[in-house]
Amino acid sequence: MHIGILSRNRRLYSTRRLIEAAEARGHTARVVDTLRCYMNIASHRPSIHYKGEEIEPFDAIVPRIGASVTFYGCAVLRQFEMMSTYVLNDSVSITRSRDKLRSLQLLSRKGLGLPVTGFAHSPDDIPDLITMVKGAPLVIKLLEGTQGIGVVLAETNQAAESVIQAFMGMKANIMVQEYIKEAKGADVRCLVIGDKVVAAMKRQALEGEFRSNLHRGGTASVIRITPEERSTAIRAAKAMGLRVAGVDLLRSNHGPVIMEVNSSPGLQGIETATGKDIAGQIIDYIAKNGVTPRKAPPKP
Ligand code: ADP
Ligand code: GLU
Repeated sequence: MHIGILSRNRRLYSTRRLIEAAEARGHTARVVDTLRCYMNIASHRPSIHYKGEEIEPFDAIVPRIGASVTFYGCAVLRQFEMMSTYVLNDSVSITRSRDKLRSLQLLSRKGLGLPVTGFAHSPDDIPDLITMVKGAPLVIKLLEGTQGIGVVLAETNQAAESVIQAFMGMKANIMVQEYIKEAKGADVRCLVIGDKVVAAMKRQALEGEFRSNLHRGGTASVIRITPEERSTAIRAAKAMGLRVAGVDLLRSNHGPVIMEVNSSPGLQGIETATGKDIAGQIIDYIAKNGVTPRKAPPKP
């Protein structure tokens, strides 16, 4: 196969590992800088241009689209879809996973465990919103946040009210969530490929910190997950339409609750913690399941 890795930077760990894994299996791989792709979308023969030339055909595209380039990245990915190229995760699923509210609404419809979560627009509704999610301690999250930035723990209703007011005053979109205290600053990342959890790790927050993100100083270790956690992670990825996903769970008193589903899960933390060749498993999955239809694009 000839595989395209849509990524901004070939030196990133996950990008490098995917290339290594592809080449080790006798495939060819090329990093395509997402932001250097351009296209004539009105052409009757969809194509993508790259650094002055029409890009070569790929058998599969692995999107590694960072949160900050979601909009343009998904437009490029959609163009590959128009060209009937197999894409590992499709543009609709990635867009969906980047919208925290939309994701939780979809997961909730599938009956998956979630923290009690509220969302409001008007400052007038703050007191009732706080009551609705059962009062402090509460976690307040900026919808645009990643890597734990914009996630605040409010210990009292009063603190919650002022933080929510401040965010609303800045026109930021937020959600308010029940604080899962019993998780004790740890979360579980499940790496899903297809219909399997191929690896899982526990991330533990620093002492005195409740956010377990590795970017916030959290530490990763290998963990055994329960059958319920396994099935929750698989169902969550499926509900989002993702073939490869990093599903983050918290261990609550009422079973596993989903924090979020990442469509471009980082490989460094999980490969290091588990010693598994996740990049290789992704390439093997594509070789087994990736079909290249090479047919005419669907007629609208
Ligand atoms: P981000 O997308 O920025 O990583 P998350 O929603 O995943 O934001 O939150 C970051 C971290 O904060 C989580 O990994 C978890 O450790 C902690 N956290 C988030 N929400 C809750 C919650 N409701 N209860 C307890 N801890 C939480
Ligand atoms: N790479 C980040 C992670 O897996 C997030 C990627 C995303 O926003 O999809 O934690």
